[in-house]
Amino acid sequence: MNIILLGPPGAGKGTQARKLEAERGMVQLSTGDMLRAAKTSGTEMGMKVAAIMDAGQLVTDEIVIGLIEEKLDARADNGGFIFDGFPRTLPQADALGELLERKGATLDAVIELQVNDEILVDRIVGRAREAAAAGEPVRADDNAESLRVRLMEYYKKTSPLIGYYWAKGDLVSVDGLGEIDTVAGEVAAVLDRS
Ligand code: AMP
Repeated sequence: MNIILLGPPGAGKGTQARKLEAERGMVQLSTGDMLRAAKTSGTEMGMKVAAIMDAGQLVTDEIVIGLIEEKLDARADNGGFIFDGFPRTLPQADALGELLERKGATLDAVIELQVNDEILVDRIVGRAREAAAAGEPVRADDNAESLRVRLMEYYKKTSPLIGYYWAKGDLVSVDGLGEIDTVAGEVAAVLDRS
């Protein structure tokens, strides 16, 4: 079973993906995590994308599609993939459809985590504050300025995917504002009937 978690930054995609990994043996594919790892290890690609990511803009489709293709090839045998933060544009969505088709795999559900924008901003600012207080690294893009750019990128480039997957009959929307376990219960219910 392969699913996409769709939603703006701070909607809880990563949190829900990690729960699904722990509970269902699925594999989280987060392009944000892959790009951050490339940035930290200082690869050529990592250095190329660093400034774009820190500013909150999207990196090119070509780069993220390449990353996903590599992972799909490397991890074929598992309980399914959770695409987290990918696709984020219509060309990425088309590319994912083609990659899965080529592997004879299906996309079983696209779960949209619906949240309210004001709460989103509070969550992200809270995440940065908590990390700082715990002495953990704060994401370079968890600041008010980058956050505004990230939200605008989401509304301009990613939110059209909601209509795209709705028209394909794959979209299920879940209220992302509840407690983590409540949201997880709703996500589980979607998976169990897909
Ligand atoms: P995330 O951890 O998903 O919030 O991603 C952090 C940053 O990585 C984003 O703000 C983008 O700069 C970049 N990024 C992650 N996934 C993608 C994607 N699918 N397409 C383009 N850029 C991405």
